[in-house]
Amino acid sequence: MKVLVINAGSSSIKYQLLDVHSAQVLAKGGAERIGLDGSLIKHQQRNLEPVKIPFRMPDHRTAIREILDVLTSVEHGVIASMDEIDAVGHRVVHGGEKFSSSAIITAEVKQAIRACFRMAPLHNPPNMTGIEACEEAVPGVPQVAVFDTAFHQTMPGRAYIYALPYELYEKHGIRRYGFHGTSHRYVAGRCAELMGRPIEEMKIVTCHLGNGSSIAAVDGGKSIDTSMGMTPLAGVSMGTRCGDIDPALVTMIMDREGLDLRGIDDLMNKKSGVAGVSGISSDFRDLDDAQKAGNPRAKLALDMFKYQVRKYIAAYAAAMGGVDAVVFTAGIGENNPDVRWGSCEGLAFMGIALDPEKNLVRGRETDISADGATVRVWSIPTNEELAIAAETERLVAEMRRAKEAGK
Ligand code: AMP
Repeated sequence: MKVLVINAGSSSIKYQLLDVHSAQVLAKGGAERIGLDGSLIKHQQRNLEPVKIPFRMPDHRTAIREILDVLTSVEHGVIASMDEIDAVGHRVVHGGEKFSSSAIITAEVKQAIRACFRMAPLHNPPNMTGIEACEEAVPGVPQVAVFDTAFHQTMPGRAYIYALPYELYEKHGIRRYGFHGTSHRYVAGRCAELMGRPIEEMKIVTCHLGNGSSIAAVDGGKSIDTSMGMTPLAGVSMGTRCGDIDPALVTMIMDREGLDLRGIDDLMNKKSGVAGVSGISSDFRDLDDAQKAGNPRAKLALDMFKYQVRKYIAAYAAAMGGVDAVVFTAGIGENNPDVRWGSCEGLAFMGIALDPEKNLVRGRETDISADGATVRVWSIPTNEELAIAAETERLVAEMRRAKEAGK
């Protein structure tokens, strides 16, 4: 089955065409600068170098059409016609409490996604534009929404309710939702497979560490807690996001710096995190270089990040009453030995110890723990697109079986 995976942002659409059974990526790329001057598609066929193709793309509809044209073109195409696309899987950031799993897109599902717009005003509207553009471009092809929040819907109330007036939860849905669910679910599943153990019997802490970072406690294959909250600003410090801070600082900083709502939002989302602390960069590679050159604030930003991840690992082991495995994934988790080392340092008392040589791995599924350590620590590259494609296939197959049974 060939599934087109779409991740639509405000001015970009990332895509991958995958063959689900062989887990092969046939082509991938992204339409960039949609609605702006200089819009282009970066496209890469399997085993070939990427190409940049300029296109005028005033809106998402045009962008989806151009992407489909490229995928079917003589020059860069990988399929003969759009008929070869069996289904489309969409990444949708926020599914609120409505979606605890992925959903075949119907008019009702679209309405429910719209109802979540206010929870993710920057992400859900472009996700929906991507869905509608695909409905128009490939009518009749089943479309599936896969939500970043869905995996965390198994959290108990004690993990997701904030100690605020309960009416705010009832009136506005203010609670912890968590994000990166597709990634946490995928790497926890891979970890159990690699260890040859049923996930239902495992306690795993998954650390998705990238530009945005979140940690999850996965007990018996279900998320029971996670570090991001109602929004992706909470938890550990990130590239430019502050993560957890004293909540009283919000009004205090607004007052002292003369900021309005937009100003404080901007400060916490775009000017904070490791970039804010170091004053250098949000990219951990730059911080590593600066630390090596002796920059004390780069070292401080990195030390803070590792310390926070370490606290979450221990806290989530406590939340689950034990831990069998810790997984590091995403850009930093897969590629940064120093962060992995620092995040596990001092945890030998609970059976976590890394092998310094194995920990040097980048981008490969590897058990990086020391011989004899009772908790296995893994570096496992995430593959959200493959997970979305597999979910899409599963739902479409279920839908077809239900239709046939109903005949
Ligand atoms: P992500 O949001 O998952 O793309 O992660 C972005 C972060 O991962 C950045 O801070 C990068 O420094 C880091 N990163 C991504 N790729 C590499 C790599 N090959 N080596 C070292 N760090 C990387």
